[in-house]
Amino acid sequence: MRHLYESTLKRVFGYDSFRTGQHDIIHAVVEGHDVLAVMPTGAGKSLTFQLPSYIKNKGLTVIVSPLLSLIEDQMQHIRARGERGVARLTSMESAEEKQEIINQLKRYRFLYLSPEQLAVPYVTRALSNVSVQMLVIDEAHCISQWGHEFRPEYARLGELRKQIGSPQCMAVTATAPENVKRDIIEKLALFTPEQFVHSANRPEIRLVVERLDKERKLERLKELIQNIPKPAVVYTATRREAEALAFELDDALFYHGGMSTEDRRLVQSQFLRDEVSVMVCTSAFGMGVNKDNVRSVVHFQIPATVEAYMQEIGRAGRDGQPAFAILLYAEGDERIQQFLIDGQYPKDEDVRMAYFESENGTAITQLPRLLRMSEEESKFLLLKQLLTERSLQEALEWVKERRRDRYRQLGQMMDYALIRTCRRDYLLRYFSEPTIEQEECCDICGEIIYPETSTIVRENVTEWKIRLTQIFSFE
Ligand code: ADP
Ligand code: MG
Repeated sequence: MRHLYESTLKRVFGYDSFRTGQHDIIHAVVEGHDVLAVMPTGAGKSLTFQLPSYIKNKGLTVIVSPLLSLIEDQMQHIRARGERGVARLTSMESAEEKQEIINQLKRYRFLYLSPEQLAVPYVTRALSNVSVQMLVIDEAHCISQWGHEFRPEYARLGELRKQIGSPQCMAVTATAPENVKRDIIEKLALFTPEQFVHSANRPEIRLVVERLDKERKLERLKELIQNIPKPAVVYTATRREAEALAFELDDALFYHGGMSTEDRRLVQSQFLRDEVSVMVCTSAFGMGVNKDNVRSVVHFQIPATVEAYMQEIGRAGRDGQPAFAILLYAEGDERIQQFLIDGQYPKDEDVRMAYFESENGTAITQLPRLLRMSEEESKFLLLKQLLTERSLQEALEWVKERRRDRYRQLGQMMDYALIRTCRRDYLLRYFSEPTIEQEECCDICGEIIYPETSTIVRENVTEWKIRLTQIFSFE
């Protein structure tokens, strides 16, 4: 078997050896087990659900993914290796294109879709009529209301799995503490799953928190950017701040979800090709970005959860070389996250109004206008789901509890910023992992020194700029 896996790895993917953990996961999948795999970002999870398809060589692998950009990225990779048996069902395909794909499901090896598309009745029906070899839930933490990116549409996946004939199921994610793991297993009804949980620790990343006055933050960021090794990613909480900071820093571009797809692609590719050394962005940047030489990740604002923080700093040092994760924290910074959390849930009066209106026969399609919400925003999707599943009292309670959970999670992230004991230890305990001792750990364990090389790069650029001015002043 070992030989077969390895030859398939070489033949289909062009790689010489498996990365840590991949082989065992693939084996469990080939043996037909349900699988839960928790591995850090960049560890190579996609390969673990794609390779078994070439071993079994029959049936369709259906992959549920939360973001169009992730689906696009994976399809590009698959097509680039010459695989033509891959299709997707997303909001980008026209009704005719979808029908075409549905009619020819048997021709495909991989089908990527969003949870919403899987829930479309004719899609579910079509899938129940073909042989689905495996259902893969990528970014499975989205299933759990304890996960940092809970998505209401993910909650239906267990039921949809049944409707398509309860195929073998594999859930993969980069970040899942104990309660999220339990939730994933339960919601998907995984049958005595084989679990592969790899340490969340990233030994190459040094952890630093700087506490400072609000007024000093910008100045300090500018200083830091001169001193830390690059390429660097700077995370902010809002789009506006991302733009403002990029303007303040040298050699920096910004990226956020409010930009056109084209602009985002352009900015991203400039960063990927090292044409610009600093990317200032919101959390929209990162998922599916393959860049292994990011040396520093700076947080200008505290993120909402420890999981989100781990995902974001996990983009540094993927090549295994030393990297830095620096959080700048000023007292009161958490208020922006509290504000954002509040905005993600309907207010009590909105919940009451929605229930009142729908009891009085108002169509659900009318509600967004009455509530002044967009029909796509998560607040409304949530409300729609509550309306079908719960009484008014239950709905109010549910929203209140969810908001409380999110505040609690934010509190845990603040503890990380304020703690006076080892920061790595804190993160590992958060993910229920044992302590690890290492050199070059965090600012509590010892002083973290940024390597000199970064300033040399900077001087070159300045020198080049001076030379340019000199050239022009000759004229
Ligand atoms: P994850 O989903 O775990 O974040 P991906 O599946 O996107 O990671 O893989 C990250 C990168 O690693 C991809 O570019 C992939 O092609 C590459 N990769 C995966 N497995 C191997 C391997 N065995 N050898 C070399 N590169 C690999
Ligand atoms: Mg992935």
